Amino acid sequence: MISSKEAISLENRYGAHNYHPLPVVLARGEGVYVWDPEGNRYFDFLSAYSAVNQGHCHPKIISALKDQGETLTLTSRAFYNNVLGEYERYLCDMFGFERVLPMNTGAEAVETAIKITRKWGYEKKGIPHGKAKIVVCSNNFHGRTTTIISFSDDAGARNNFGPYTPGFIKVEYNNTDQLNSALQDPDVAGFLVEPIQGEAGVMVPDENYLKDAAALCRENNVLFICDEIQTGIARTGSLLATCGNCTCESACERQPAHYTRPDLLILGKALSGGVYPVSAVLTDSRIMDVIKPGQHGSTFGGNPLACKVAIAALEVVNEEKLAQNARHLGEIFRKEMESLKTECHLFKTIRGKGLLNAIEINDSPESSTAWDLCVALKDNGLLAKPTHGNIIRFAPPLVMTEKQLLECTAIIRKTFLSFSKTG
Ligand SMILES: *Cc1c(COP(=O)(O)O)cnc(C)c1O
Repeated sequence: MISSKEAISLENRYGAHNYHPLPVVLARGEGVYVWDPEGNRYFDFLSAYSAVNQGHCHPKIISALKDQGETLTLTSRAFYNNVLGEYERYLCDMFGFERVLPMNTGAEAVETAIKITRKWGYEKKGIPHGKAKIVVCSNNFHGRTTTIISFSDDAGARNNFGPYTPGFIKVEYNNTDQLNSALQDPDVAGFLVEPIQGEAGVMVPDENYLKDAAALCRENNVLFICDEIQTGIARTGSLLATCGNCTCESACERQPAHYTRPDLLILGKALSGGVYPVSAVLTDSRIMDVIKPGQHGSTFGGNPLACKVAIAALEVVNEEKLAQNARHLGEIFRKEMESLKTECHLFKTIRGKGLLNAIEINDSPESSTAWDLCVALKDNGLLAKPTHGNIIRFAPPLVMTEKQLLECTAIIRKTFLSFSKTG
């Protein structure tokens, strides 16, 4: 096996420099752990941006991958396959929608939701041709395609990639007054939002924000579109972040008091447990049926390998009660961090829901403090990554035990306290 040093130098020499990774090379993963080529073990507190909620190389998901990999992998949608329908029914039942459009990456699913929303706007709402608008939020992250970065605020993601796709209006996140004004424009077809803004630094909106936003959309005949690519699939302590405080296994249709049901639900990342790129848009027939044969698609979307992997990944979420575990461990994590905060001047705030949490560091976003802390955490056996300069996201796989979590909070405590002394 090549060494960490060789692996890094090969990537630097031959790869595009479109990422700035922490200086660690991963060669193997199992559950909450990853190992470098030299055999050092780490707790993974990023989980590939919440794609690996079920833990690395989950045996049930890998077994589905192997079985289907030896049977049939790709047919294209030119033909039916004998797994897609079963998968679509599974998703519809679990999340409470009538139809699914299967894609591969998160950005593709967001693009799909945008296309469905625009087409619905013209054909159902009667928006004049070419005028449809979609309301989005400041500091959003929805992916990297040319259309999606057109409505990003992140200069790095956006600059020099124009000309930009028109048709998006931006409002402040967690601000229903601004949303309400924007929705008065009769050409608005949809409102696209993250239930918690992950990339922006785990920004948790006010308790009633999503519910109020959904109600405003309904009043104005605007589709309410939730991007749960990062927050969905048990990460925040319920199956979906839009489930509010409910921990039932499928999106709780029976308890609408808890559940803010979007018109379009976008899933990705943990939909496959991080094993294979699988994404989906779920909605009801009255909306989905604007898409007719030939109008949208993907060679790999809905392939039998993806479908089997995703069914296994979702079964794991239910069988291992990952939402309940994320909720329980999240409470312990934030309590431990609140207590560390009182002892450590570097520690500004801790926020989050379930096992999607972030610590804001008491230093400017331009400082290297958060990065240096992540390097120190790595040296102590825990991997996390800064976002926006002075925020560190903590999002371990949801298969973690309470004992492992306490080991991790001890590592974080030790690292922060010794860093405060030396730094
Ligand atoms: C990761 C992410 C995406 C993009 O997913 P890709 O698979 O990287 O294209 C979109 N929206 C949110 C909220 C995400 O976290």
